[in-house]
Amino acid sequence: MRNLAVPCPDGGIGRRARLKLVFLWSAGSIPALGTRIFKQMTDLKTEKYDAAYLRMAAEWSKLSHCKRRQVGALIVKGRSIISDGYNGTPSGFENFCEDEEGYTKWYVLHAEANAILKVASTTQSCEGATLYLTMSPCRECSKLIHQAGIRRVVYASEYKDPSGLDFLRKAGVAVVLAPLPG
Ligand SMILES: [Zn+2]
Repeated sequence: MRNLAVPCPDGGIGRRARLKLVFLWSAGSIPALGTRIFKQMTDLKTEKYDAAYLRMAAEWSKLSHCKRRQVGALIVKGRSIISDGYNGTPSGFENFCEDEEGYTKWYVLHAEANAILKVASTTQSCEGATLYLTMSPCRECSKLIHQAGIRRVVYASEYKDPSGLDFLRKAGVAVVLAPLPG
């Protein structure tokens, strides 16, 4: 019986088979290429928006009365800013964050805590939102972030204690470091 699968004399595959392969390759690769370009464009857009929101958070941090560290936060949901915050004392308290020895008072609220609490006083929710922070969250705030339903945290610089970020990663919250230029 003739063996139909005998390879070509040059050791390659037959012309028809080669044409079929070329056809399959192009049919599969063009949509894949389109998907890849679309993804790259989406990623670029996300990076652009991330940088812009972080710049706004940095602007917000300047409103803080704290001397040791000024942190700004912004909560964005579906391309809308639903909340903002900076570190400071609770309402009704004097605007001094540090005691006579220069230590931060224990009741000072962090920027992200203030932003999350601000949403709590509205009809909005943080579910599925992105939090923009000039500095990565401490472990106390990271619990609030996860519990509030925030799904992504973009921060410009890292806080000395990484346990907040570790907790968020464990909780399935995406964390992205996006340093601000300058
Ligand atoms: Zn905190």
